[in-house]
Amino acid sequence: MRQKIVAGNWKMNGSRAFANDFVSGLNRAVLSDDVEVVLCPPAPYLATVSSQIKGAKVGAQNVYFEVSGAYTGELSSQIIRDVGCEYVLVGHSERRALFSEDDELVAKKVKSAIGSGLKVVLCVGETLDERTSGRLEEIISTQVLVGTGLLEPQDFASLVVAYEPVWAIGTGQTASPQQAQEVHTLIRLLLSNVAGKKVAENISILYGGSVTADTAAEIFAQKDIDGGLVGGASLRLEEFLVICDHCANTIVGGR
Ligand code: PEP
Repeated sequence: MRQKIVAGNWKMNGSRAFANDFVSGLNRAVLSDDVEVVLCPPAPYLATVSSQIKGAKVGAQNVYFEVSGAYTGELSSQIIRDVGCEYVLVGHSERRALFSEDDELVAKKVKSAIGSGLKVVLCVGETLDERTSGRLEEIISTQVLVGTGLLEPQDFASLVVAYEPVWAIGTGQTASPQQAQEVHTLIRLLLSNVAGKKVAENISILYGGSVTADTAAEIFAQKDIDGGLVGGASLRLEEFLVICDHCANTIVGGR
């Protein structure tokens, strides 16, 4: 059965004091064993968050594919693991758009992070222009197929995919549950073609894009939506906990 996951992506927000307060609050909360909660704070706070957190995991927001060397400003999978992370986000649309990450680079990052023992959340999603011009399927297919193109069969056990329509990220415009489910079905089919049906059935596919306490339940109730990648709302502990509860209350494979 696939794992339900709610990951909070703080992006470039917070402070040491914020991280400490948030983790203390999270540690006091009762988290369901059914949901893997993952916090992705900015890189400088990874070590302190991982050393304090209980009952939840920590993920980095980015990684480089080389093991070590002259790559100023970058973090390797080994360094990320060394500070206590189990997860890493790869190919977030902000990395693609603002830092020119293409599918080939994303594929190298996915392969090297999984090879180093991290679980990778591969983020994919179309822009509004790509959707309205009828290129949704082509864009998602390319991002999924190229992004996973260097993986060996056994690597798929460490893969999570997040469908994040770019037009829904940080805009308050959540995709409708039907729109999201439609793309999640496509992603599972693509994964099934490359890794086999049984493997694809066990890969968690998260939805991301303006998930809030109000929209989460309906989104998570969809058959192929196994949780969420949450940006803005993950900075508000109470709301983030409600989102985690909504995920806990859904049945994998839909209600
Ligand atoms: C994200 O950054 O991955 C995200 C989904 O952001 P938001 O929830 O703010 O739309």
